[in-house]
Amino acid sequence: MRIVLLGAPGSGKGTQAQRLQAKYGIPQVSSGDLLRDAVARQTELGLKAKAAMDAGQLVSDDIVLGLIRERLHQPDAANGFILDGFPRNIDQAHSLAALLEDIGQPIDAVLLMDVRNETLMTRLAGRRVCPKCGKVFNINSFLPGVIPVCDVSPDHGALYQRPDDKEEVIAKRLEVYQAQTKPLIDHYAKLGQLKVIKGEGTLDEITERMEKALQEKKAPKRDAAPASKKPAAKKSAPVKKAAAKSVKAKAKAKSKAKRAPQPKVKQAAKKKTPAKPAKKSAKKNAKKAVKKAAKKAIKKKVAKKPARKK
Ligand code: AMP
Repeated sequence: MRIVLLGAPGSGKGTQAQRLQAKYGIPQVSSGDLLRDAVARQTELGLKAKAAMDAGQLVSDDIVLGLIRERLHQPDAANGFILDGFPRNIDQAHSLAALLEDIGQPIDAVLLMDVRNETLMTRLAGRRVCPKCGKVFNINSFLPGVIPVCDVSPDHGALYQRPDDKEEVIAKRLEVYQAQTKPLIDHYAKLGQLKVIKGEGTLDEITERMEKALQEKKAPKRDAAPASKKPAAKKSAPVKKAAAKSVKAKAKAKSKAKRAPQPKVKQAAKKKTPAKPAKKSAKKNAKKAVKKAAKKAIKKKVAKKPARKK
């Protein structure tokens, strides 16, 4: 099974990838982990990648692609893998498609972890990692005053906060996601590979949803509109909404066309024209909302909630 996990930082890709890895016996391939490892070992690539990572920006495609290519050629990935954090932009998606074609391992499914911005902020600001085993925790799940330590092995030492989970970098990462990674949702929806998973709830619930989605044979094709009309219906909202909107619009246009075919077809076409400005303002509003939610959630967490029982 070859799975791609899509989702914003903090959407739970890594945590769920670890769970799927254990269930399906295929490795989690996290571009972030590969990069952090290269940084820790101070390899040439790691040194090049560090500045971009610290700033919440994407590392250059060739560095990441090199690491992914090398990783996917390892024997444990021969029967499948879970890609976590790669691809992160359209060019990477094209490179991945070429690489997978080369090694004869096409993608089976792309799972999008759909999580509200406020939840993302809470998760990212509270995320702590075990320095040895890499297990991810959230400080909000610990009792007040307790020093957060790894439950797998408490002697691993105090949990640490990733440098890019610091308040000032989080907002940048979410911005980069909106601008560069979000277009992949449309990309994979058009290919009929995308499945949207509600990424909130208990860990078990989310894993269950993912497994169910993986059992379904094929993701429904999102858009059957002629190529020229597609852009007007997309991107103005998250993929589920865009898909629903597009289907509704088409149904409406169809029923109108049935009632009075000639003039109504024209009317339907006219109606689609203003979709572009609407798309822009929706995008702008979404950006504003991310920033606002980011500030709000961080303030709330940092000021009011040092810790709470798991
Ligand atoms: P992650 O652990 O997936 O949140 O990634 C941490 C950081 O590593 C990101 O903020 C980027 O700087 C970098 N990174 C991870 N994956 C990619 C990728 N596919 N392309 C470019 N940069 C990446």
